[in-house]
Amino acid sequence: MSSYIDLPLSGLEEPLSEMEQFVQDTTHRFAADVLRPLGTQLDKMSAVDGVAPDSPLWGALEQAAGLGLDVKSMLELSPLERERMMLIAAEELSWGDAGLGGMVLVSQMPGLYSVLAGNMEMVDFCHGKLGCWGITEPDHGSDTLDPDGSIAASDGDYGRPNCVARIEGDKIIVNGQKSAWVSGGTIAQVCALYCHYEENGEVRPGVSLIVPLDLPGVSKGKALEKVGLRALNQGEIYFDNVEVPISHLLAGPGQYVDFVHHTLAEANVHVANLAVGMARAAYEHALAYAHERRAGGQKIILHQSVKYRLFHMFRKVEAARALVRRVATYNATAPQAALQGSISAKITATQTAFEVASDAIQIFGGNGLTKEYPVEKLLRDSRAMLIADGCNEALALKGGSLLVNPDLL
Ligand SMILES: Cc1cc2nc3c(=O)[nH]c(=O)nc-3n(C[C@H](O)[C@H](O)[C@H](O)COP(=O)(O)OP(=O)(O)OC[C@H]3O[C@@H](n4cnc5c(N)ncnc54)[C@H](O)[C@@H]3O)c2cc1C
Repeated sequence: MSSYIDLPLSGLEEPLSEMEQFVQDTTHRFAADVLRPLGTQLDKMSAVDGVAPDSPLWGALEQAAGLGLDVKSMLELSPLERERMMLIAAEELSWGDAGLGGMVLVSQMPGLYSVLAGNMEMVDFCHGKLGCWGITEPDHGSDTLDPDGSIAASDGDYGRPNCVARIEGDKIIVNGQKSAWVSGGTIAQVCALYCHYEENGEVRPGVSLIVPLDLPGVSKGKALEKVGLRALNQGEIYFDNVEVPISHLLAGPGQYVDFVHHTLAEANVHVANLAVGMARAAYEHALAYAHERRAGGQKIILHQSVKYRLFHMFRKVEAARALVRRVATYNATAPQAALQGSISAKITATQTAFEVASDAIQIFGGNGLTKEYPVEKLLRDSRAMLIADGCNEALALKGGSLLVNPDLL
């Protein structure tokens, strides 16, 4: 028998610093003790009950806030240290439950995007508030992530937007709605809103601003029921002549295309990282089960086909994490984040999570299909990741458009 090598939580990653190790240990314990059981419980509840005043969600979000991993607290770190810390922590949270890991992450997005915009007043404003990112609309999903129209059909345009802002003096006036897919949409207190801009009767992309969701004219939809990531609250936000102070602006029409690309470069890496946590959870469940279950006269880990499948699961998790960390390091240290890198990480890691969750079910056999075991939920959760933060096909087309060098045409 070959000698067994026990790997740390983040596999073959370079050794963690003392602070990173502390963060990983703390978030791992929280994920195991709180998020994993709560995620299983919320998965079985209705979406509306999941965010009702007596839902156990609120206690967990309060505990998560107590971890001190918010954007403002991490500002004293260098961009690379901050990015690594967020990735290490969020991989553990997602390993516990991806819906709840996503909930914690998305609530930081308005603060994080304010940092990208260099608007420190908004970083302070968003601190301690539950946040969300509202960019997609009922009639515009993939389109909104492509503000320069680089993947639009050659004979078409994207049509009228569902949400438009205009600037009047020192106010931004917002009208319209965002899609039912806004994560945290029905419970957030602030929204990083990305929408079209209207000037002299002409509508074009766009503006980004922080909208306090207690302003007059803001209303919200019902919590969305969906097949996976059920602990992640989602729902529409409606704007009826909502007046926002101009100081809340993150990017105006002149900077909008670059700002969306920069935002997506950041968001895609974080979604990819959540997927690594899910893939690792599926792999670990399968590995443990293979050491317990007996079939064909022996523990199934001893069957060639099971070892073979587990090895490919392990390999994929390692490859996905390595790419996510590599892209994050590049983006945090290069003069300009490389969106094509972030898209590569997002597609690779989410595809990995889906494949590894499916393989985990195969190793569990019939048990894998039942609600008694955790892997069917991981398959449902990971399926959603192929669409979240941009459908992988539309993202790949966008990534391809970023490889075209206009000087060589
Ligand atoms: C779990 C989850 C979390 C989410 N969180 C948020 C959030 O926090 N905030 C937010 O604003 N939105 C959020 N979304 C929305 C998400 O960004 C969109 O679902 C996604 O961008 C796809 O948009 P759509 O669903 O409208 O699909 P569509 O854009 O309608 O696409 C439908 C199909 O057509 C294909 N397609 C579309 N356009 C093109 C094109 N140009 N070329 C080729 N193929 C194309 C797509 O690949 C897809 O297969 C979330 C979604 C999910 C599932």
